[in-house]
Amino acid sequence: MFKKSEKSLFEVINKYLSKKGHEIVMSIFLSDYNGHDIYIRFDYVKKLSVYKIVWFDLNFIDLKHLDEYINQQIVTKYIALQLVDKIITNNRESSYALNDDIKGDRVEVLFYKENNVTEFVFDRFLPIDWAFLIDPFALVFSYLPRSMEIILNEVFAIFDGTEARFNALKPIKFDLINGNDDEIFRAKDILEGTKYYENDRVEFLEKIDNHYLAIIEEAKPYLVNIREDDDGYVFMWCNCKQVGYCKHIYAALLAIRDKKIKNFYKVGYIGKDESLLEKVMSGKFFLCFGIEEDRLLLITSESMIFKADIMVDGKRVFEVIEDDDDCSLSKALERYK
Ligand SMILES: [Zn+2]
Repeated sequence: MFKKSEKSLFEVINKYLSKKGHEIVMSIFLSDYNGHDIYIRFDYVKKLSVYKIVWFDLNFIDLKHLDEYINQQIVTKYIALQLVDKIITNNRESSYALNDDIKGDRVEVLFYKENNVTEFVFDRFLPIDWAFLIDPFALVFSYLPRSMEIILNEVFAIFDGTEARFNALKPIKFDLINGNDDEIFRAKDILEGTKYYENDRVEFLEKIDNHYLAIIEEAKPYLVNIREDDDGYVFMWCNCKQVGYCKHIYAALLAIRDKKIKNFYKVGYIGKDESLLEKVMSGKFFLCFGIEEDRLLLITSESMIFKADIMVDGKRVFEVIEDDDDCSLSKALERYK
């Protein structure tokens, strides 16, 4: 990731562009936004009498060869002038809508008017009373690659009422052991999650590095993934359909607090079909949580459930590396010969 301390980076880029005759009108800096560090400028190039959108991906940049890393598009004059007008007539003072609970996802917008710079900084979502930035964002992003649309949708989420969907996929500041559950879980999910936990529905729970993986057994198994970062942020995710923090995550959380570890089975792939191996994951062994219809229930390195045939061409292609105390998996696999 791009390091913020490298302030000179912007200086180098700005110097390079001003040498090319670019006058800056507006800039947008996406800082660690979904892991992206993108510096975008809306510039006027006097000698050509054109407006341009210029952008740099700061994670892939070589300051000595900026010519190779610059991305630029000429903006239709009529549209460009509308944006210029918006910036010139904007009388707002610099404003900051920062949120400590958000890790990364910072957006810094700068308006340049003569020698005045006005700054608007927010975390993840454009605040509801900053609608004046909607048009500038929409215009700038229409000149960026399609893949950036995801970020634009996220920036506008409050206006679309979709924040919960984006927040659910992000780390939050939360103490796994002593955190205030009511702040992030709905009462209904706390109640049902507690029931799941008390009825031993947390079938598996294992900690790998700073990562907990759990299987919560319902009509079908749900996979919960909880990652604890060093800086007090926690990422919690479940593969069920609910948006946000669900009862499965809550059940896993209670099991973590009570240290109710129940390791997954580990199986190794011994077949020769390398393409299958590639499909599942690149590691040597897989976490496994059972058998269903002649298939092993595995977890991939991307934390997805994957069902793999136990037998290929009449041969068993998995061996047990780690079993439970009763050797349940080995026994169940005996009938596959
Ligand atoms: Zn769930």
